[in-house]
Amino acid sequence: MSTLIKKVLIANRGEIAVRIIRTLKDMNIKTVAIYSIVDKESLHTKLADEAICIGPKDIRKSYLNKMQIINAALVTSCDAIHPGFGFLSENASFAKLCEVYNIKFIGPTSKVIDLMGNKNLSKSTMEKAGLPLIPGSKGILESLENAYDIAEKITYPIILKARSGGGGKGMRVVRCKDDLEKSFNTAKKEAENSFGDPEIYMEKYLAKTKHIEVQILADEFNNIIHLGARDCSLQMNHQKLVEEAPAYAICDDLLNKLYEYTKKAVKYISYTNAGTIEYLVDIEEQEVYFMEMNTRIQVEHPVSEMISGIDIVREQVNIASHKKLNYKQNQVNLSGHAIEFRINAYDFDNNFLPSAGKINELNLPGGYGVRIDSGIYQGYEILPFYDSMLMKVIAYASDRNKAISTMKRAMSELIIGGVKTNKKMYEEILEDDNYLKGNIDTSYMESKYKKGV
Ligand code: ADP
Repeated sequence: MSTLIKKVLIANRGEIAVRIIRTLKDMNIKTVAIYSIVDKESLHTKLADEAICIGPKDIRKSYLNKMQIINAALVTSCDAIHPGFGFLSENASFAKLCEVYNIKFIGPTSKVIDLMGNKNLSKSTMEKAGLPLIPGSKGILESLENAYDIAEKITYPIILKARSGGGGKGMRVVRCKDDLEKSFNTAKKEAENSFGDPEIYMEKYLAKTKHIEVQILADEFNNIIHLGARDCSLQMNHQKLVEEAPAYAICDDLLNKLYEYTKKAVKYISYTNAGTIEYLVDIEEQEVYFMEMNTRIQVEHPVSEMISGIDIVREQVNIASHKKLNYKQNQVNLSGHAIEFRINAYDFDNNFLPSAGKINELNLPGGYGVRIDSGIYQGYEILPFYDSMLMKVIAYASDRNKAISTMKRAMSELIIGGVKTNKKMYEEILEDDNYLKGNIDTSYMESKYKKGV
C-alpha cells in the first residue's frame, strides 16, 4: 500500500535543493529547507515553504549534523527527507537514523547504501553479480610489498585510489616501479587527511577510456527501468565537467551490454529508488568495466531527464511512497540529445582558484531547448565555504550537433558578474574540434590544458 508523502525536508543546499523543491511543488508536496547561519539568504531557503536554521557555517555542525537535521524534520512534521547529492546522501547511518525515526529517506535502504558505499565491498559484490572489474587488488593494499606484487602482476601504469574517496579526489596514477613507494605513501597520507581513512587500493590504469554511466530507477515491486546512458568523459583531474545523454561514440552492442550488466547488478542487490552505475570503457579494446555505483541522484541527472521526458525526482518520491514505477522499459522513449555544463565560481585564468563575491549582474539564458538549474540570483553573495557550483546549463535538441549549437547560444547569453567563473573554458570547449567530433577520452582536458584544478 502506498504511503502519502505530504511534507519533505531537503537536506541540502544550492542548486540541487532548488531543483528538488521545484518538483515537490509540482507534486503539491510541502517543502522545508535547511540552512546554516551564513546560508540564510540562499535561494533554496527562499523557495521552500519553510526554512529552518540547523547550525553554523561549518558543515560538520550543520549540513552533516545528522541529529540536528532529524530534529528539524520532526519539529516541522516532515514525513520524508530528500538528501540530494553530496553531504549525507550516501551516508548509511543517516539513512538508518531516518528509518529509526520513521522518516522516509528518499533513496535506497541504509543496508544497500552501506554495501555500495564501501568501494571494496561494492566491487566484490558486483563481481559476484557477474560484472567485469578493472584488474587490481582484491581489497585494500596491506603493505608496500603487497602493492609492488600486484603492480607487477597487472603491469604499470596503475592507479592508487582511496577506499573512502569520492568526487574524483584521492587518486594517484603511477607510471613505473620507481615511483610506486613515494606515491603509495603520499596517497595514504592524502586519503587520511581528506577522508579520515588511510586505506587505499590499486587498479590497472586504463589509458584511453570513456566514462559511461547508466541511470536506473527501481521500485519496491522488482520493477527496474534504465533511462539510457550518459557520457561523462570530459573531465579535469577525474572530475566531470560536461555530461551528455545519450552516450555517443559507443556502439549499440556495448551499450546493450551495459544495460544488461546494470539490471543484473540492481537485481542482485535488491536496489530501490534512483541510482547510477558507472563504467569505464576501454576505447581501444572495446571492453567495459564496472567502476562504482552512486546510490543517489547525480549532478548530471537532467540530461537523462531531457532525453527521456521523465522527472527523476518525481519518480524518487513515488518509489519512496511505495508506489509502482510509472513506466515500463518499453514506455521509456529516449530521443534527442542533451548536454550539461557545470558553471562553477572558479577563476579559469588563475589555475581554477575558487572565487567568491556578490553577483552584481546576472543574465540567464533561455529559449527553446535550454534548461537552467541554478542556485543563485542577482544580489546573492557567493560564499567561499561551500561547493563552487553555481548552476548547470542544459541544452537539448534533436541531435548532438544541434544541441551543441543551442549550448553555444546559451553560453553567449549567460552573464554572471561579480565572481569569476569557468564559462570561458566551456566556450573554448565549444570551439574544440575534438569535442565537436566527439573524440574525447577521460584524460583529454588534462592533455589540453595541463593545469590542475
Ligand atoms: P570518484 O568516486 O572519486 O568519483 P571514480 O572511481 O568514479 O572516482 O573515478 C573518477 C574518474 O577517474 C573516472 O571517471 C575516470 O576518468 C578516472 N579513473 C578511475 N579509475 C580509473 C582507472 N582504473 N583507469 C583510468 N582512469 C580511471
